Amino acid sequence: MISITDLKAGYGALPVLFGISLDVSRGETVALIGANGAGKTTTFAVLTGRLKPQSGHVTLMENDISAMTPMEVVGAGLAIVPEGRQLFPSLTVEENLLVGAHCRRPGRWNLEQVYEIFPTVAELRRRPSTALSGGQQQLVAIGRALMSNPDVLLCDELSLGLSPAAVDAVYVAFERLKAEGLTTILVEQDIVRALSVSSRFACMRHGQIVLTGASANADRAEISHAYFGMH
Ligand code: ATP
Repeated sequence: MISITDLKAGYGALPVLFGISLDVSRGETVALIGANGAGKTTTFAVLTGRLKPQSGHVTLMENDISAMTPMEVVGAGLAIVPEGRQLFPSLTVEENLLVGAHCRRPGRWNLEQVYEIFPTVAELRRRPSTALSGGQQQLVAIGRALMSNPDVLLCDELSLGLSPAAVDAVYVAFERLKAEGLTTILVEQDIVRALSVSSRFACMRHGQIVLTGASANADRAEISHAYFGMH
């Protein structure tokens, strides 16, 4: 579904990604894990067209998206639930969702379908997005991404800043999307959570993928070693 090949990128003279390669098949949930500064968010910035790679490619359903603008990437079928949710504060919940439909990609998702899968969001539809709790805002951010009818959904730190109960509610919602067969790449600081919701994981350190494997039988000691570079 999405194929990342030898991706190198950075900020000005600062190199950050040193040749990332990762293939994600249709319906898979892959967790991208790694310590602060490992390059996870930078990888997402390249995938979403906000940062141009120095070299390498990203192909989505055979389309090379690495030179596309952020809007073109959404049109090609990739959407992101950004870190910190980033809802439009002056808009209602429903208006935020409609912004996600801007590129009018055909597919399963529309307001009705989002409200059906996330009934909490339906109840809040007329509220200003600023009147919502963090967990509720996270559901709206996921719904907004779905409204573009993505083939691949990137989720950046879904649990960040949320109470444990809100994190549970967000991941119940996420499981519903998995059951729908959506292809997702998930960045998550909570490694236990990341492994429990994903089929595979890729661990980054210093701008490289240093370990990949099946999440179900992941060896925690091996992951800690990859994560921190030590035993
Ligand atoms: P975190 O969990 O802290 O977000 P991360 O794995 O997502 O970590 P990145 O945010 O991709 O890591 O950061 C990788 C490196 O790139 C870090 O050294 C960081 O300081 C640097 N960096 C990130 N964004 C920028 C930017 N806009 N300009 C310059 N350097 C940046």
